[in-house]
Amino acid sequence: MSATILNGKAFAGRLLERVTEHVAGLKTEGIVPGLAVVLVGEDPPSQIYVRNKGIATKEAGMNSYEFRMPADTPEADLLAKVKELNKDPAVNGILVQLPLPGHIDDKKVINTIAPEKDVDGFHILNVGRLATGQRAMVSCTPLGCLLLLRDHLGDLSGKDAVVIGRSNIVGKPMAQLLLGESCTVTIAHSRTKDLAEVVRRADIVVAAVGRPQMVPGDWIKPGATVIDVGINRTETGLVGDVDFAAAKDVAGAITPVPGGVGPMTIACLIRNTYISACRREGVSVAS
Ligand code: NAD
Repeated sequence: MSATILNGKAFAGRLLERVTEHVAGLKTEGIVPGLAVVLVGEDPPSQIYVRNKGIATKEAGMNSYEFRMPADTPEADLLAKVKELNKDPAVNGILVQLPLPGHIDDKKVINTIAPEKDVDGFHILNVGRLATGQRAMVSCTPLGCLLLLRDHLGDLSGKDAVVIGRSNIVGKPMAQLLLGESCTVTIAHSRTKDLAEVVRRADIVVAAVGRPQMVPGDWIKPGATVIDVGINRTETGLVGDVDFAAAKDVAGAITPVPGGVGPMTIACLIRNTYISACRREGVSVAS
C-alpha cells in the first residue's frame, strides 16, 4: 500500500486564494487588513520566515508592516512597540517573531499583545479559550494540521490520536484541537515510556519533535494518517520527524517535508489576520 500524500502546498494555495478573494471583498468596503511583524535581532531562519510572511501578506492584498529591531533592544522598548501596534487601527494582526534574544522575556511580550490581534494564538487568553472550547485565535501550525486532517478524514470523532511533542506552540494546542474534535488524545514527549507502542495504537500521528526521522515506518499503524510537523536541516536537505520513505508504505496518508505542514502555517497566519479584521469591523467571516 502506498499512502496518499497530503499536499499541504496545494491546499495552502487554495486557502490563500479564498482569503485573497475575501480580502478583495473587504476592500470594496474600505477595509484593508494589516499584519505587523516584529523581528528582534538577526537570526537567519527568522529573517527568512519574516520575509516570507511579508510576501504572503502582500500577495493576499493586505498591508504588511515590518519592524526590525537590533538584538540588544531593551525589553521595555519592545513592549512599547507592541503597545503602539495594539493601538494602531491599521494593524489587525501582530506577530513577534520567536525566538527572542535571551534578555527578553518572551511570555511577557506575547501577553502584552492585544488578544484579538494575537494572530499566532500564543497569548494566555487565547490558549485558555482554546482549552475551554471558547472562540479563540488558534495557533497557526496546529490549525494548519487540523485543516489537513479534516480535509482528508472528514469526521475525526472517536479516533485515537497521538501528538509527539508537548511544546506550547505546537504539541499542546494540537492536542487541544484534536480533543475538540472528540479524538482520544495521547500527548507523548521525551519521557514517554515505549513511544513505539503508543504510536502503533494511533489512527492519527502528529510528530512535532525536531529530530530527523525519529519515527520509523514500523511504528505506524497500517492505514494511519501521519502529519509531520518537524523541519530538520540535514546534509541531504530538509527532512521531517518521520522516516517518510518507510512510513509512506504503511500509512494511509502522510504529509511530506517540505511541502506539507509548512505552507499551511503561513496560510493560517494570513487567514487569522483576515479573521481579526472581520471581527474588528463587525463583518462576518467567510470560509
Ligand atoms: P520544541 O523543541 O519546543 O518541542 C519538542 C518536543 O519534543 C518537546 O515537547 C519534547 O518533550 C519532545 N521530544 C524531544 N525528544 C523526544 C523524544 N525522543 N521522544 C518524544 N518526544 C520528544 O519544538 P517545537 O517548537 O514544538 O517544534 C517541533 C518541530 O516542529 C521542529 O522541528 C520545528 O522546526 C517544527 N516546526 C514546524 C513548523 C511548521 O510550520 N511546519 C512550525 C513550528 C515548528
